Amino acid sequence: MRLGLHVSISGKLTQAFIEGNKSGCEALQIFSSSPRMWKASPISSEEAKDFQKQRGDFAPLVVHASYLINLGSLDSEVRRKSLLALSDEVERCKMLGADYLVLHPGGGAKGAVTLIGEGLSQVLDSADGLKILLENVAGEGNKLGKNFSELLAIIDATQGGDKLGVCFDTCHAFGAGYDLRKKETWDILKQEIKNTIGLDKVKLLHLNDSKADLGRRLDRHANWGEGYLGQVTLKNLASDSFFRNLPGVLETPGDLEQRSLDLKLCREWLSLEG
Ligand SMILES: [Zn+2]
Repeated sequence: MRLGLHVSISGKLTQAFIEGNKSGCEALQIFSSSPRMWKASPISSEEAKDFQKQRGDFAPLVVHASYLINLGSLDSEVRRKSLLALSDEVERCKMLGADYLVLHPGGGAKGAVTLIGEGLSQVLDSADGLKILLENVAGEGNKLGKNFSELLAIIDATQGGDKLGVCFDTCHAFGAGYDLRKKETWDILKQEIKNTIGLDKVKLLHLNDSKADLGRRLDRHANWGEGYLGQVTLKNLASDSFFRNLPGVLETPGDLEQRSLDLKLCREWLSLEG
């Protein structure tokens, strides 16, 4: 299993590789700009070239899209800005040679699935080889994607939806009610994926412990060993050949030193089959 961290690009894009090397990452995830601002500072072709040259063996290289993007918003201004921001994210990913762009599907009231599908259809045209991965969510408010049926509905509402993939986040799934501490939940989960989007759609795992208890619908990442999921969750994951062979990225809190420890712990626990 190729593992890595979400790392910082503060100051310079290639900072990601410095942090990745320091912490022993094989995979890497970054924001390509500030995730809480609509306006992204542009990447020059010089910077992009430099980034690709220095990338080395890091794979997959994942970009996490801005949290502001919500293609399903009922506010047409938010929708317009979201579409522009997502197109911009796709362009940046292509410049950087990223493998995946992870996106929270968003949501709104009735009709959100159609709106999200329409938005994604427009953006997918220019995605070329880049795969956009919809991430499952904890189910806060009216956000879509708390289970695979909801993710399938979005994929089905998207023209060229076969080009979309999915990223599975352990913390979000636990928040949405999947008790990943139980081995049978992983079997149920796999069956649910088979019955909906299909196993081949899942391209990436987000490996986060959870500060919030089961089914609370809260997206609160914890460091491994400090949350509700703990060692048993990773042992269960590792005992399943499908999940075990997916790449994983940790998005746990704290400084690089703390997250490096998380990564080490994860590697250790994943090697202990349950
Ligand atoms: Zn995540």
